[in-house]
Order: sequence, then C-alpha cells, then structure tokens
Amino acid sequence: MSVIEEVKQRIDIVDIVSQYTSLTKSGRTLRGLCPFHSEKTPSFFVYPEQQSWHCFGACSTGGDVFSFVMKKEDIDFGEALRLLGERAGVSIPSKSEPRIGRDERERLYQTNEAAARYFHDLLLNSPAAEKARDYVANRGLLLETVTSFQLGFSLNSWDALKKYLEERGYNENELLSGGLVTEKEAGGSYDRFRNRLMFPIHDAKGHIIGFGARALDDSLPKYLNSPQTVVFDKSGSLYGIDLAAAAIRERDIAVIVEGFMDTITAHQYSFNNVVASMGTAVTEKQVNTLKRLTRNVILALDADTAGEEAMLRSVGYENTLGAEVRVIVLPEGKDPDSVIKEDARTWQDLLGKAMPIMDYTFKMTTASLDLSTARDKSLAADRLLPIIAEMKDIVRQGHYLEKLSRLVNVTERNLENVLRQIRPTLARPWVKAARQRVPEQALRPVYASPLEEQCLALLLQHPELQKCSQEPLPDYFENSENREIFTAWQQSSDILSLTGRLDTAIQEYLDSLMNKDLIDNRIEQKYTDCVLRLRERFLRSLEVKRAAALALEAEQGGSAAELAKLKEQGIDNSTQLGEVFTQKSRGAGIKGGKK
Ligand SMILES: [Zn+2]
Repeated sequence: MSVIEEVKQRIDIVDIVSQYTSLTKSGRTLRGLCPFHSEKTPSFFVYPEQQSWHCFGACSTGGDVFSFVMKKEDIDFGEALRLLGERAGVSIPSKSEPRIGRDERERLYQTNEAAARYFHDLLLNSPAAEKARDYVANRGLLLETVTSFQLGFSLNSWDALKKYLEERGYNENELLSGGLVTEKEAGGSYDRFRNRLMFPIHDAKGHIIGFGARALDDSLPKYLNSPQTVVFDKSGSLYGIDLAAAAIRERDIAVIVEGFMDTITAHQYSFNNVVASMGTAVTEKQVNTLKRLTRNVILALDADTAGEEAMLRSVGYENTLGAEVRVIVLPEGKDPDSVIKEDARTWQDLLGKAMPIMDYTFKMTTASLDLSTARDKSLAADRLLPIIAEMKDIVRQGHYLEKLSRLVNVTERNLENVLRQIRPTLARPWVKAARQRVPEQALRPVYASPLEEQCLALLLQHPELQKCSQEPLPDYFENSENREIFTAWQQSSDILSLTGRLDTAIQEYLDSLMNKDLIDNRIEQKYTDCVLRLRERFLRSLEVKRAAALALEAEQGGSAAELAKLKEQGIDNSTQLGEVFTQKSRGAGIKGGKK
C-alpha cells in the first residue's frame, strides 16, 4: 500500500474541511459557506461517501482532500500529502531525500551490462579463465545455462575491467557508483572483482543491477556481492527473477533458495520458478517483489541453520504477502543444487510436501520441549505467542491460537488476554499514534479509481501512446495523485523528465503504476476504451453537478458561475454522452478528447 493510500485511509475529509468552515448536514452531504470565496448563502458541499468536495458558487470547482488542502494552504501536492500524513500519523519520505534520476539509473544499467558482456566473453574465450571453465564444467553446467545466466569471469587484475570500461567511455565516477571499482584511501580506484566467477544479478525487468562473484581460489570472502548502489539493493533483489518471472506467473508459485548455483541448477533441470535470496535470510522486501507474480511462496531452508531467522520473520513474510508461506527443509548437509542433481524427483517430492511456515515454527519451537511439564508449556507459549500476535490475518491468528491452546492446554481466552498485552509493543510507533486518533476498525476504504490507474499505467508503460489521437483531460482524473501524475506526464517528453517533475512522496505510487501488470496485447484499443470510459464518467458527473447547480440556483440564486462554467465546458451532455455510447458500441475511439 502506498503512503498516499494510507493517508486516505486515515483521514476524513469532513474533519479537514471542518477546520476551515462549519458544515451542516443536508441529506447525505454536508454543506457550508465556501472557505475559498466569500458568500452569504452556502454553496459549498462535502460528500463523505466519495470523500470529495465541490463549490457551486464563484469557485465552481471541487476535488478530493488533497486538492482541498493544496488550494486552502496554497501548497503543492507533496506538501499537502506531508501535512495530512503528519495528522494521520503516516510518515512521508521527505523532499530532501535524494531522488535518483532515471538517467543515472539507465547509465548504471548500461555500465553493468557492458561489464557483464566483458566478463562473459572472458569466461568463454580467455586462456586465463581455464580454471573458471573447469569449475563450471565440474558443477555440471551446460553451455546453454552458462549463456542464459550470462556467467562470467573477472581477470586476476587490479584494473582490467576499469581500463576496458574507461576505453568505452565510462568514467571512474560511474564505475564507483556502480560498485564495479573500489575507492583507494590514497585516491583512485581498483577493480572490485578479481579472479572470480561472475553472476550478473538482474531485476525483474531484465536490467543488470549488480553482481555476485565466487572466489576460484582460497580468497575470502568466498562470495562477494556488489555493494548497495542506486540500482542495487541486495535485500530487495532476487537472483534469477528475470528468468523465473514468466514461470512463476504461469505456475503461480515461486520457490526461494539461498544460492546462485542452486538457482542455476534448478533452471537447468526446468524448475524455472526458482529464485535465490543470495545468501542471507529472505527479507520482506524480497517477498514483496514476488507478490506481483504470485501469492504462493515456498522457502527452501537448510537443515543446519533450519531457518531460525525464517521462523522469526515468518509472520512478516505472510503479512507482506497476504498469504501463507510454506517451507521445505532440505536433508542434512544438502542444498537444492545437490538434491536436484542427485535426483530431480526428490526435489519435486520435497516441494509437494512443503509445510506452512507457522506449522514448521510450532514444530521446531516445541521439538526440544517436554510439553507435559508446566515449565516447558510456559516456554512454548512465551516463544510462540509473540509470533502469533504479529499476524494480521485474524482467521489464521485464531487458528494458531487454538493450536497453541491445545498444545499447552490453556484456554484460548487466557491466551488471548496475554496476546492483547503483547500486541501494542510490537506495533510500529506511527501505527500506535494513528490508532489513538483512528481506531483500526474506523479506517475507511480507500477511494481509488482502477480506471484512472489503468489509464495512467498504459500511458506510462507504453510511451508510443503519446502519439495516440486520444488524450484524456486532467479533469477526467478525480484523484489528486492521478491528476498530478497525468499533468506532469503531459509536460514531460519521457519518463525521466516525468520523474523529475514529481515529488519524492509520489514516486512510490508512480513506481507501482509503472510496474502494474498489463496484458500486452491490443494496447491501443485498451487505452482508447479507458479514455472513453473516463470521458463518460466525467460527462456523467457534470450532469449530476448541473442538476445540483440548477437546484441550488432555483433555491437561492448564486450558482450562476457554476452554470456558466458548465456551459463553457461545452456541456450539451446528452449529445456528448450519446457520442460516447456510439463510440463504445462501434468499439472505436472518438477523435481527440479535447474540447
Ligand atoms: Zn467557492
């Protein structure tokens, strides 16, 4: 959920507007003197159900809570979001936090790609890579696999890569910010990866974001990764995601293993839905990356570490995923690489027997306990209750509470009492702060518009639509954040300059639109339909407004401005709506959305 949605959940437009003008109830709406212009009879309306407002008087304008605060405080969208965020107890990234320019990212992808090609070519052809080729062959990798994962080799040299890339126009700063070279204390830099087998790490879109590198001698560390860069965040990256994404989506299940070789071997044996967490415990960020592709996740855990950490974090994964996470535990001393190579069926069987991670946590926690003794019962409850307390899914929480109750022979009611004492300390401070104002059950459904989001996602992901004769008007977008993005998009020649125009706080939401799943066919038709439907909605809302303005005019006189504006907007609605219907039935777009 984006911060924008969180704020919407926790803020009531009625509370906000009431700070500026007093409202009285009039049917399902609230009415008051307009806080923007001076008037004697109220022509300002708030619609709690839609969380919107409209002035039918001199302003003859309206919008949502963001546009209200923007207009009232004379601030921009980001500032309004921060103001409301503060009130709602939602923390919004500050404006000064560095925003990564899209061109900087693009340049780093290019640098990494050039490096990957260089490493790959060395592995295939360089005499110096003999040992690396032997290693790859001994691990049973086929040439085809080596190529599809673009494995590579880095020379045992302090500046081979640096020289190679500098000759091709990449400067030292770019190599530094990409983590390909390391800065010397005395100034200058040297190649980070030397005499290693190289694993390019991609994001889901196929960009190379960093490298993993395995030592081919006794050098330590055995595995060395790229440092954190503007494009590489190890805690959120999954090795193999670029090659696995399609299979994960198709089979609707993902398997997370630990190592590079585990992933590569799995793929070589056609287990293409496997990705790696790259050595550390799986993070919630990584689970979040998978969420776009599937809700079914299996973790493959080592028998020795037995996922102590996985157990502790299990609820975090599940809360992130909004679904159950399952685990398989590998036989003692084995990793997926060796299991699969020995017999692929064993791996298949293990996957078939994957166990819900909470069941596994119960099993592991109580394995060494004697649950007939009071002391161990209490120990089991001490360890498991905090984990259960974190569960957001109350049905599953109930299930495990019941399971624990049976296990330690304490009534669920008693356990629930303990649970209630645990819960507040675990909550994030801002959740706690917000709860004091807005109880969880009072959170409102977010007034989002899938249609607006679909339209923007299409525009953002398919720049070619910019040439389309169809274009929505900013007024078609009722949600401020969508209108904000759309108007910035209109002023931008490409995504890069669009990003530059938008506040940091809206980037996260922009990213979600850019990554929204769209089925890649009949794009133009889909887009045309979207614009048409937005237009229809817009015209209908004008009709409603006109009816309201007419009623108001009859009652008191004073919505003349509104009526004039409606007229000026060329509102012969019935004609235009008729036009929309004709277009829809023809399945074709109207020419030019502009009037
Ligand atoms: Zn007004």
